[in-house]
Amino acid sequence: AKQAGRGSVAAFDDALEQAFRRTARLEAGLRVAIERGELALHYQPKWDIGTGRLSGWEALLRWQSAELGSVRPDEFIPVAERTGLILSIGDWVLREACRQLRQWRDEGLPTGTMAVNLSARQFRQRDVAEEVSRALRDNGLKPQDLELEITESALMDDLPAAAVALTDLQRLGVRIAIDDFGTGYSSLAYLKKLPLNCLKIDRTFVTDMTASEDGAAIVATIIVLAHGMGLKVVAEGVETQEQFVQLREAGCDQAQGYLFFKPLAAPECRDLLRACKRL
Ligand code: C2E
Ligand code: CA
Ligand code: CA
Ligand code: CA
Repeated sequence: AKQAGRGSVAAFDDALEQAFRRTARLEAGLRVAIERGELALHYQPKWDIGTGRLSGWEALLRWQSAELGSVRPDEFIPVAERTGLILSIGDWVLREACRQLRQWRDEGLPTGTMAVNLSARQFRQRDVAEEVSRALRDNGLKPQDLELEITESALMDDLPAAAVALTDLQRLGVRIAIDDFGTGYSSLAYLKKLPLNCLKIDRTFVTDMTASEDGAAIVATIIVLAHGMGLKVVAEGVETQEQFVQLREAGCDQAQGYLFFKPLAAPECRDLLRACKRL
């Protein structure tokens, strides 16, 4: 038993060391990712349930690292967040998304809005509103062209700071969505105090919706309450027709998910927009 005990401690040490090494490599890689041109944005369409048309896009970051290969955002965003690298990366994302929207507009394509994910750290920076307004101005975009997605947990981490930052952004005129709604511990009563435009129901709720009656009731209730607060509702991670039908019946405004489109590289988005234009 003693032997086995030592064995598992050694295995634990190994695993820990490997995790440390992986994080160190991610961090080193992220430091040079922008200048090496390893970052790219993919865009996932948002589908307007009422009109049955594409209403806009969400920019999602992709990293193709020379050393590590393709790394998923769920792995590298937390590292970027911890090290503060998210500030320069997030600024790059914001500018690149605005530049892309401008380019599609210049090509006469019916683009709709662009949504960008803002991390907790980025959004609590004092000059976040200036950064956003500069990105818009440099690309000749209106504030209404841009939507910022901020996770529920980022908002709840520090509610007073969130209220200040949101007020600055709201004053600018950009739309603000609360992302991953339902995964944190906030109540809609809290959210009432924040200047928000839109609520994104987390994918886990959308998945549960067709699994149980409770699941469906929870989503329907969120939608009614959100509408009562004047918020638009987007469902994320919609994968089946059944989910879509239930969401439509519950009055959900927009849907996003593999049922419609996966996140697409920019050239595929252009093809899609051209097809929309012909309709
Ligand atoms: P998120 O903002 O909640 O984005 C939705 C995630 O769900 C995306 O994963 C998207 O590809 C995926 N998804 C969309 N539709 C479906 C579906 O029908 N089924 C399933 N199973 N998944 C679906 P992705 O691109 O891997 O991004 C993961 C997370 O990384 C994002 O979650 C977001 O929190 C973060 N992230 C991505 N890009 C950025 C960025 O530019 N800045 C910041 N701060 N975070 C980002
Ligand atoms: Ca998001
Ligand atoms: Ca989300
Ligand atoms: Ca998520």
